[in-house]
Amino acid sequence: MSGATSLLDAIAGVGTDRRGGYSRHGFDRAEAELREWFTAEATARGLDVHTDRNGNLWAWWGEPGPDAVVTGSHLDSVPGGGAFDGPLGVASALAAVDLLRAEGFTRSRPLAVAVFAEEEGGRFGVPCLGSRLLAGTLDADTARTLRDTDGVTLAEAVKARGVAPEHLGSDPETLGRIGCFVELHVEQGRGLVDLGTPVGLASSILAHGRWRLSFSGEGNHAGATALADRRDPMLPAASLVLAARRAAASVPGARATVGRLVPTPGGTNVIPSTVDVWLDARASGDGETRHVVAEITEAAREAAEAEGCTVAVREESYTGTVTFDSTLRDELAGVLGGAPALATGAGHDAGVLAHHVPTAMLFVRNPTGVSHAPAEHAEADDCEAGVAALARVLAHLAGAPC
Ligand SMILES: [Zn+2]
Repeated sequence: MSGATSLLDAIAGVGTDRRGGYSRHGFDRAEAELREWFTAEATARGLDVHTDRNGNLWAWWGEPGPDAVVTGSHLDSVPGGGAFDGPLGVASALAAVDLLRAEGFTRSRPLAVAVFAEEEGGRFGVPCLGSRLLAGTLDADTARTLRDTDGVTLAEAVKARGVAPEHLGSDPETLGRIGCFVELHVEQGRGLVDLGTPVGLASSILAHGRWRLSFSGEGNHAGATALADRRDPMLPAASLVLAARRAAASVPGARATVGRLVPTPGGTNVIPSTVDVWLDARASGDGETRHVVAEITEAAREAAEAEGCTVAVREESYTGTVTFDSTLRDELAGVLGGAPALATGAGHDAGVLAHHVPTAMLFVRNPTGVSHAPAEHAEADDCEAGVAALARVLAHLAGAPC
């Protein structure tokens, strides 16, 4: 069997994006191909692969639960994302199983590798879709009607992959099998570079959410309409982008980003009739995050009014600050010889599961800190250090005596 980087090499050609990097989204063709790859690799290791009611994959070493030690991550990406965010955790889990097998490891608890669906929300807009549905923190009726940019609903998309849309939703039976969860992930920052160490543990995740602001004005001719006669929704949209930076800069550690803006109809010589803007905002606590978003939306409302436009604000997702189980983290830090703990600004399925079961995350050093972009990277030696660390952690948690 092969190490994490060899496993990743095998899927390097799947879902490449013509703009660079990868676009692999929940239940699309590329992600389906990765699911097939995972199923084949897990089956080759003697693991039993099941798909749960929300389209998450579970590869079991031993009888499924209860009190199982579960590791894993996701296989989908953001649009034009990197090769490591998600797949590194899945490949490392498989490689850790290989290491444990080679060592003749004996389990005293069931062990599973999980692959969660649509973690990035790159297709249906809601991050951690599979784990939120599993945990019952995303309403199934709402989820079924989510649409991708082609108008395909989540219900239609899962059905096309053999998952019954009517069964989407809270899955206490599957959740109840998880005794603890450990997700390995490429670091999305330079914390480990600065510390000069290849592997660390997560301490917390910033509160974060997504908001959609829809500005409405009057579509008209770019040449024939005098400036004084315009109700151009692009102006308050532009104000929003600047307000986001301003508001985030006023709160230490806060981040606010506009990475997607869609004018309708979208023509060079056309004043748009509507502009949809998606805001991503994050800060250390719920209060700070809510404060930043309130400042931005207030600025957006004022700018819309000044231009004779209206704005509708909709919260598409929100996750409060996650603090990982400190007992488990300290225990694993001991197993790993004092691995450092770092806070992260990125959301993860581990953040969803942390509300239900003891959860930990391992980070692997990222030399540039770049993530959600083609330059995202981890050196092969660091990836193998991550696999070795994950194997130690799994052996500690699932081994005898526990
Ligand atoms: Zn990820």
